[in-house]
Amino acid sequence: MTMVDHAATSRTAAAAGGPDHDVIVVGAGIIGLATARELLRRGRGVTVVDPDPVSGASRAAAGMLAPVAEVVWDQPALYPLMVESGRRWPGLAAAVAAESGREVGYLANATLVCAGDAADRRHLTELAGLQRDLGMAAEPIPAAEARRREPALGPGCVGAVHLPGDHQVDPRRFCAALLELLGPRVRRARVAGVTFAGDRATGVRLADGTELRGAEVLLAAGLGIGDIAGAPPEVAAALRPVHGEVLRLQVPERLRPLLTRTIRGVVHGRPVYLVPRADGTVVLGATSREDALPGVLAGGVEQLLRDARRLVPAVAELELVETIARARPGSPDDAPLIGRIGPGLSVSAGYFRHGILLTALGAALGADAVTGAPPDPRFAAAIDPTRFPTRRNETP
Ligand SMILES: Cc1cc2nc3c(=O)[nH]c(=O)nc-3n(C[C@H](O)[C@H](O)[C@H](O)COP(=O)(O)OP(=O)(O)OC[C@H]3O[C@@H](n4cnc5c(N)ncnc54)[C@H](O)[C@@H]3O)c2cc1C
Repeated sequence: MTMVDHAATSRTAAAAGGPDHDVIVVGAGIIGLATARELLRRGRGVTVVDPDPVSGASRAAAGMLAPVAEVVWDQPALYPLMVESGRRWPGLAAAVAAESGREVGYLANATLVCAGDAADRRHLTELAGLQRDLGMAAEPIPAAEARRREPALGPGCVGAVHLPGDHQVDPRRFCAALLELLGPRVRRARVAGVTFAGDRATGVRLADGTELRGAEVLLAAGLGIGDIAGAPPEVAAALRPVHGEVLRLQVPERLRPLLTRTIRGVVHGRPVYLVPRADGTVVLGATSREDALPGVLAGGVEQLLRDARRLVPAVAELELVETIARARPGSPDDAPLIGRIGPGLSVSAGYFRHGILLTALGAALGADAVTGAPPDPRFAAAIDPTRFPTRRNETP
């Protein structure tokens, strides 16, 4: 990749009386980092600002790249985004691995979705019909065949659907690789507000009062956008936290490989998944709650272990090495808000439960917004950041 000498760009701009920075990206989650890399690729200078990079939703995420399993009824605007982003992931993973010299944890190892009872099986079979109607590969298989493919599945799996196109990446490894290749362009600081001259964004003000002047500002701070002064109120008002617990488990040598592909399940209507990593760990997730309690709830851990054991009984023999809870940055229609909000100001946020999957496409669409490229007509309406206008007198 051709990297622009950002320090030189800044010096030139400053000498000319212009901004000190070209593009200021607020937020170093997977979206801010991947968009910053895409901007660099397009020849722009970037400064990413975050007090604690990869500490938000991107830290907890299982990293399922699941355009098929994530299909739910009545979200037609979301399907093309997920499919296109899934298609771009192998190329993105390979490029970031090559540029950073790091392993990014991309695994094309498919997914099996299991039913925990007869009602769950009916639901999954109906959903497989919709998935196939959308041109996606979804193959219902009997429980015995599922167990032949994944011998760790127990009698609690009463039927399954094989999804050969749903894969995974390790978001922590992928983000570590992005941090490596962005290097000193990532600055550890909290952004308190966006600065303006008239209606034009001119940069950001940090929590310690320092001002960074930038030609463009991209807000990619996830749920943190609501605390940034000058952030567009209609965007801040559209975002809501949807908390989820995730567990990380170590598979003992004697049980490896426990699973060869991602196992998702619906147990008495509740979703659960087990994502096996190449390093011998399994990510078990995830609860979903809108109770505004940010910590790890004992009930959440209990629910995940109970539902996972129903599908894979050997879960009880794994070592529990981490529990974590984070909030998904939800939006009213579950699709992200990506685009230009005003002169010098763009946003890329609200990726909800699909932010890892949507990174490959979202980074390109976010970079389009920043560089003034017209939004891709296939996705423009679905991602329009102004599609949830704040009503008069409504506070964000
Ligand atoms: C439990 C769980 C499981 C998930 N599993 C999956 C999955 O399997 N597949 C999938 O596709 N998606 C998954 N997701 C969703 C995915 O994690 C998110 O959609 C995605 O990580 C959002 O990325 P982001 O960069 O927008 O936000 P974040 O990762 O939250 O990053 C925002 C960053 O902004 C920074 N920030 C905040 N305020 C400021 C400020 N004022 N100044 C500077 N920086 C600031 C924060 O420090 C943070 O680093 C999951 C989410 C959760 C919670």
